[in-house]
Amino acid sequence: METIKNLAYLLSAIFFIFGLKMLSSPRSARKGNLISGIGMLIAIVVTLLDKQIVDFTFIIAGLVVGSAIGAIAARRVQMTAMPQMVAIFNGFGGGASTLVALAEFMRFTSQPSPDVSVTLVLSVLIGTVTFFGSFIAFAKLQDLMKSAPIVLPFHQGINALLLLGVVVVGALFIMNPVSITELLIIAAAATLLGILLVIPIGGADMPVVISLLNSYSGLAAAMTGFVLSNNVLIISGALVGASGLILTKLMCEAMNRSLTNVLFGQVGYDASAGGPGEKRTVTRYTAEDAVMMLENANSVIIVPGYGLAVAQAQHVLAELAELLEKKGTSVKYAIHPVAGRMPGHMNVLLAEANVPYDKLYEMDAINDEFQNTDVALVVGANDVVNPAARYKKDSVLYGMPILNVDQAKTVMIIKRSLSPGFAGEDNELFYDPKTMMVFGDAKKMLTEMVHLLKEYQGS
Ligand code: NDP
Repeated sequence: METIKNLAYLLSAIFFIFGLKMLSSPRSARKGNLISGIGMLIAIVVTLLDKQIVDFTFIIAGLVVGSAIGAIAARRVQMTAMPQMVAIFNGFGGGASTLVALAEFMRFTSQPSPDVSVTLVLSVLIGTVTFFGSFIAFAKLQDLMKSAPIVLPFHQGINALLLLGVVVVGALFIMNPVSITELLIIAAAATLLGILLVIPIGGADMPVVISLLNSYSGLAAAMTGFVLSNNVLIISGALVGASGLILTKLMCEAMNRSLTNVLFGQVGYDASAGGPGEKRTVTRYTAEDAVMMLENANSVIIVPGYGLAVAQAQHVLAELAELLEKKGTSVKYAIHPVAGRMPGHMNVLLAEANVPYDKLYEMDAINDEFQNTDVALVVGANDVVNPAARYKKDSVLYGMPILNVDQAKTVMIIKRSLSPGFAGEDNELFYDPKTMMVFGDAKKMLTEMVHLLKEYQGS
């Protein structure tokens, strides 16, 4: 039985690894998700058959309630609220690891060996930090609390003291692992740590933190895997830990920030701050003006951003692109690595509208093409095209590579107002004489434009 169980766990680990590999491309992501899901199913079935942990009625009741909540949440969540949902799910993962580790400790009939004691401490510490940190991240993204950095007096000092306390109490526990009190003290300190580590991080950096917390939740699961001597939990936890860390690194690179700067830089946007600046003029264009310009363009590069997701305008945007292509215009989509609110946000959105993958170009592959392009059509994007990133040293955006839309012959921007993007930085591009500001909700404006294009094209 033991051999069969381990073989099944090995099989599910292989499914996880292949599934993860396939998630790296939008083309194979759906299949990757399915394959990982099958791996998880094998792991669950084998565990349930192998271990009589609790009564099956409890397990089935838990499965039904959990699946119902998960399915409703996943169906109801808005495309723009995805980061919050990921934050909550990470948090639950961390919380579950802590609870399982504590429950397992209470079941031990003899003293755990030092290696198990170490992983018990780590599991409670990392799991609890993940749980509370993720809920703060959720609250910031959901506007339930101030998204600007909150810094207490002696903030880093308090964190250091808490960590020192955890090390001391953890060492006491490892030397004599008999009482749950030490573990509960560690959980209490980790609660404060989770909160204090995330409150000083500004809203704009929250997606990076979520990815980091995702990695923590994996580490907590792996530690719990050691406590339970469960290989598949160790492997899957390590995979989540490593992939979360790689994603965090990629996101930091895309914003040209170091992880230390994200975690301790206290960079954030306070909506109440920021003066009006000097008065500059902006020219408002109508949908009709925009269509006339597009009709005469031979090449168009579309730059989608967060506003496209807010407006849910991906289908009508794809329709506009098709109409332009029908009359011979070259249409490409430029995807900035942090456009939207989570990695791959724009790819998922455009895939939903059946935009062919070969029309999507990553920033490095398309940035040199803007200078030979007639129209850069920016839909609900702001920070990822903001030239301040190139030269304004005191800007949060400084150093972030941007899409060179300002090099196109005409820049057309569809958004509702002049308000800044996520980073809170004013965008001079709006005031550039070659920029056409088409104010309005992206879906509404694009629908109007499609309507007009069809009229012109007589279809
Ligand atoms: P931004 O947040 O910079 O800008 C989005 C713009 O969309 C806003 O200025 C808003 O302007 C406009 N908008 C909102 N609703 C609508 C609507 N209904 N119709 C039309 N326009 C609308 O988005 P970007 O995609 O350019 O940049 C992403 C930002 O998120 C970056 O700062 C990035 O660093 C950050 N981020 C992203 C991560 C990722 O992984 N994708 C991770 C970490 C951070 P208005 O209100 O005037 O309409």
